[in-house]
Amino acid sequence: MFEIECPYCGRRDGSEFSYAGEAHISRPSGDEEISDEAWAGFVFMCRNIKGVQAERWVHSAGCRRFFNMLRNTATDQILAVYKMGEEPPEVEKQPLPSPSGESLGSGNDAVQVMGKGET
Ligand SMILES: [Zn+2]
Repeated sequence: MFEIECPYCGRRDGSEFSYAGEAHISRPSGDEEISDEAWAGFVFMCRNIKGVQAERWVHSAGCRRFFNMLRNTATDQILAVYKMGEEPPEVEKQPLPSPSGESLGSGNDAVQVMGKGET
């Protein structure tokens, strides 16, 4: 079961939450003077990082409050949740997994073990 720690309610089932976009982006100011390009950039262009990304989530079937999350998009591991307006906490950088989901170099370890006749 996929669970998320709501900073207001505690740990709940992941089905109670909705993704609400990239975190820490601000709406362009001067609504009447914004070019179409600037507005389209704000609405449609977002980073799509393979690795740790700051995201906005909402506890849509619970307290209905927004919060931010640091999530590794490659592994779906949640590294931190924090309230809106707070700075993201420092998290340890993680190595990116291979396309099959293994950590880099894990295949080499298997070859080394097999070479020693331990299998
Ligand atoms: Zn909540």
